[in-house]
Amino acid sequence: MNKYFVLIFIIILAGWIFSVEKRLSRMPDPPFQPPLDLHAAARDTADGGFSRGYGFYMRPYCNFWSDAHTHTYLGDLPQEQRNRLHVMLRNVMYELNIVNAAAYCKTEADLAFVDSLGKDAPVWYAAFNDPDVTKLRRYHELYHIRAVKLHNTPVLYGEYRKETVEFPLGSSQMRPVTIDMMVSPEWMSFFGICEELGLPVTWHTNNRYGPSPYNFGGDNSKCWDGLPYDNFYVLGLIEKILETYPGLNIILCHQGFMGYPMLDTLFAKYPNLYIDTSAGFILHDEDYITDAERALIRPFFIRWADRILFGSDANAFWELPETVSEHEIRRHIYNHVHPFKRFIQQLYLPQPVLSKVAHENFERLFNMPPAEDWFY
Ligand SMILES: [Zn+2]
Repeated sequence: MNKYFVLIFIIILAGWIFSVEKRLSRMPDPPFQPPLDLHAAARDTADGGFSRGYGFYMRPYCNFWSDAHTHTYLGDLPQEQRNRLHVMLRNVMYELNIVNAAAYCKTEADLAFVDSLGKDAPVWYAAFNDPDVTKLRRYHELYHIRAVKLHNTPVLYGEYRKETVEFPLGSSQMRPVTIDMMVSPEWMSFFGICEELGLPVTWHTNNRYGPSPYNFGGDNSKCWDGLPYDNFYVLGLIEKILETYPGLNIILCHQGFMGYPMLDTLFAKYPNLYIDTSAGFILHDEDYITDAERALIRPFFIRWADRILFGSDANAFWELPETVSEHEIRRHIYNHVHPFKRFIQQLYLPQPVLSKVAHENFERLFNMPPAEDWFY
């Protein structure tokens, strides 16, 4: 009789456990919860829990950010006006909590001015035909440059249009423009000096990605259709430099126009490879990152937290600089900075990851003093 009772009990118990398991397995995963700021737990317990629940929603946050990708005025203007425009740019950026930036300068006078302000990292924006190591050392010594900026678009268009160029600049030798110039002996020894001086190269390398109005991108397919190679070939040249100079840090502007799977592979292969967040990591005011998108992108940022630098591509270049209104400038810079900050903030990164992307990686790579961020 007793045995019978125990057996029935075991069967009922097993049935109950089975049904609970089944119900649980059918329940959806709980929705994503953003992490809280680092002090929520302390607030909950201090003074016997006096402030428990106060600001329960407060998330990781950086009060001050650094921008690894900005431009001084790109065209020709008297120096006084160029300086004024640069100051306006940095003032408006400050309103958006960007406390310092890498300022790409095409001219020596711009480098001198940015250096004299003592706030930003002066970066020499070298022309593709100017691998001048004497100039590099001089700018490093005189203007404390923190990096070199390169841009392949004029090379790609020059090759497409079958142009010739004086290479190296000042040599009086005219050569056909070709992307292979970027791995010429002249450039390779230039990169060697960059490595020696601890200067990263921030580089707009590839650029074929089709029309992209969301991030203000134009269409360059015509040029690419006329070239005898593709993006992979150009990337191969960059990989050659990464391999030759393992101590040279290369920052791919605009993520090299690559998606997550390829960047994953490249980051794993090259510890000296970095990206900035401009162009690709953009989210306009009206848009929100979906849970599915966050599930893909957030782990990528966490995995490569040391290799991603906030960058906006903000620039002091707007129409008719003599007459432009302050509203126009504000609108221009807001559109170039805010959507990139917004993208990162919507990832709800853990505080250490957010701090790295927002300013710490910039400080390390560009050898800058830490941002005045008293929170962390
Ligand atoms: Zn740029």
